[in-house]
Amino acid sequence: ASQTETLGFQTETQQILKLMIHSLYSNKEIFLRELISNASDAADKLRFESLSDSALYENDSELKIHISYDKDAKTLTLRDNGIGMNREEVIRNIGTIAKSGTKEFMQSLTGDQAKDANLIGQFGVGFYSAFIVADKVTLTTRRAGLGKEHGVRWESAGEGDYTIANVECEQRGTEITLHLRDDETSFLNDWQLRTVVKKYSDHITLPIVLTKEDGTEETINQASALWTRPKSEITQEQYDEFYKHVAHDFEPPLAHVHARVEGKQEYTQLLYIPQRAPFDMWDREARHGIKLYVRRVFIMDDAEQLMPNYMRFIRGIIDTADLPLNVSREILQHSKDIDNIRAANVKKILGVLDDLAANQAEKYTKFWGEFGNVMKEGVIEDTNNRDRIAALLRFASTTSDTQAVSFNDYIARMKEGQDKIYFITADNLAAAKSSPHLEIFRKKDIEVLLLTDRIDEWVISNLQEFAGKSLQSVAKGGLDLGTLEDETEKQSQAEEADAFRELTDQVKATLGERVKEVRITHRLTDSPACLVSDTNEIGGNMERILKSAGQ
Ligand code: ADP
Ligand code: MG
Repeated sequence: ASQTETLGFQTETQQILKLMIHSLYSNKEIFLRELISNASDAADKLRFESLSDSALYENDSELKIHISYDKDAKTLTLRDNGIGMNREEVIRNIGTIAKSGTKEFMQSLTGDQAKDANLIGQFGVGFYSAFIVADKVTLTTRRAGLGKEHGVRWESAGEGDYTIANVECEQRGTEITLHLRDDETSFLNDWQLRTVVKKYSDHITLPIVLTKEDGTEETINQASALWTRPKSEITQEQYDEFYKHVAHDFEPPLAHVHARVEGKQEYTQLLYIPQRAPFDMWDREARHGIKLYVRRVFIMDDAEQLMPNYMRFIRGIIDTADLPLNVSREILQHSKDIDNIRAANVKKILGVLDDLAANQAEKYTKFWGEFGNVMKEGVIEDTNNRDRIAALLRFASTTSDTQAVSFNDYIARMKEGQDKIYFITADNLAAAKSSPHLEIFRKKDIEVLLLTDRIDEWVISNLQEFAGKSLQSVAKGGLDLGTLEDETEKQSQAEEADAFRELTDQVKATLGERVKEVRITHRLTDSPACLVSDTNEIGGNMERILKSAGQ
């Protein structure tokens, strides 16, 4: 029995499909880029799996992508001899959009075509882009290592459902045939295919072979690894297209860095900062984005050893000459070479960020909006680079509602005699701004940083100081404004405390155990009273965080 089954797409799949066809229509040729990108990934996966099981090559180790077409049948066919898929994998990978963040994604759609196209791209609907130009797609695949009777044929018109059947399949890998819509037959043309492949997929390291109208074959890409070419020979577009492939992103990156290291260690870095945070950035399972190559041979995706956790949003590749081809994740975990490369990667990215912050303020603002909260983890995680990361932090303050103030900005604006960096933590900006603790600072025109992100209290307690200036919560302890107060102010405060001793004692007696002490304060100008925590105790906000974490 061939076990033909008709299965329905998830509701989201249908919706996303419709939306994608609609919003990407003006850029429809990208379907080729997406299918080629998948074929290239499939070849990478085969290479990786065959490191531990060389039989997977089945005596056919020349990995390639084939493109052919049939003008009469109006079909375009892409074939790869990569890893292929078994039946479950077809259902899981092709029949489902089982990505984390699907709901959030659907909710963030605006109906604005340009904006949605970007979002869709970022969400990564790669395979489905075939339906922009095709009204039927047939995928035939066999997983490497399985017998030919384990072939699978998937077919769909991109509407509510698809069929899936078991078929005989001599060839390992995946073949995808697009039955083009009547008005999309312009793709069935040597010149057109060559142009589109060159534009989007020239960086693909496998040969992309076109069977031309006259039946002869032509390799249409350079098929050399982009990062091995001299920088001067790589255009911005090529860098961008390579990024879209490795990052599975439709948008170009915010910035990149490409460097070759020679000497004791030998490796190439090509690293990218995306424009937008991935939907799964806060997912514990989120993929890290670095691909590892050894002398141009793909070794693995998602090499989390190559970037610290707080830079998990960085995408790109590392190609090293210093590791054996059969390197495993276990080996990576204990490799000094890898530790050195990771440290160098961090330095490179910090360098790019320093440069954006200093010279491209708009881009840096964008970066901070997307990734600021993750970068803050770096203050806690990366003690070696703590000061450098701290200089990259941006905060809201009593002079800025947006997170735009650096410690250095703050220090440059400090009042004469001020030797501390003042901050307040709160759940949100409104709460921070209306805090009575700020009253005395407003009166004296002293800037206070407003920290409203959950992680901030942790960050501050790990930092303690910046450039020799200690960080001081305005909500803690007996506030000593040092030389910011003159002698007469201090004198009168002491006198007032005596004068009101009877009142404060009475309040203390009434509140009993609920407070430690009641005292006269000069930090309020409008409010009658406020709560402060002891200098050595955790702050109110931290207390809330720990409580919610069950501590
Ligand atoms: P992405 O490439 O971002 O994962 P796609 O929609 O492009 O998303 O592809 C979905 C999945 O389908 C891939 O992750 C892969 O598992 C599978 N797939 C697609 N094309 C191929 C192929 N040519 N060979 C093997 N698997 C494939
Ligand atoms: Mg893809």
